[in-house]
Amino acid sequence: MLDGKARALRIKMIIMDVDGTLTDGALFVLPDGEEVKSYNVRYGLGILLAHLAGFKTAIITGKTSRALEKRAEKLRIDELHQGILDKKPVLEAILAKHGLKNEEAAYIGDDLGDLAVIKAVGLAGAVADAHPEVKKNCHFISQQSGGRGAVREFIEFILDAQGKWGEVEEKVKSLSVRNIG
Ligand SMILES: [Mg+2]
Repeated sequence: MLDGKARALRIKMIIMDVDGTLTDGALFVLPDGEEVKSYNVRYGLGILLAHLAGFKTAIITGKTSRALEKRAEKLRIDELHQGILDKKPVLEAILAKHGLKNEEAAYIGDDLGDLAVIKAVGLAGAVADAHPEVKKNCHFISQQSGGRGAVREFIEFILDAQGKWGEVEEKVKSLSVRNIG
């Protein structure tokens, strides 16, 4: 089996889970039933870095929220798929739409609902506090836990493996990053 770095070389699209991955999994449920969650601001710049390096990005999540829709729009995520319980067919549809092969996709998640996708992509990442079964099937495990910089770490790992870090760093310096969070 190829190691994470060799697998990262072929990646063209980075796909993310939300709850427990982009967030720490905490949900605040309001009296009207609406759910509120917090995101670590660092992943916003991570996604910008990915776009600057020419990667496509996608989110596949089981839940649905208008806040995420706004956030994904602001961050210019290429594909947002919410309310998805069976993630694998959605993964295949996204890849077909963008003319990508499975080995060109990277996915990061935290729980059992991510397993089918994790087994189908070229590079699978788990957050530090992911379910053991998920970790067992991944090629990359972040040092940080979900919602605490894990996704940023995954993106930087791929950029680094492809030698794109320097190029992207230069581009970021020439941008105003004040409004990116
Ligand atoms: Mg999750």
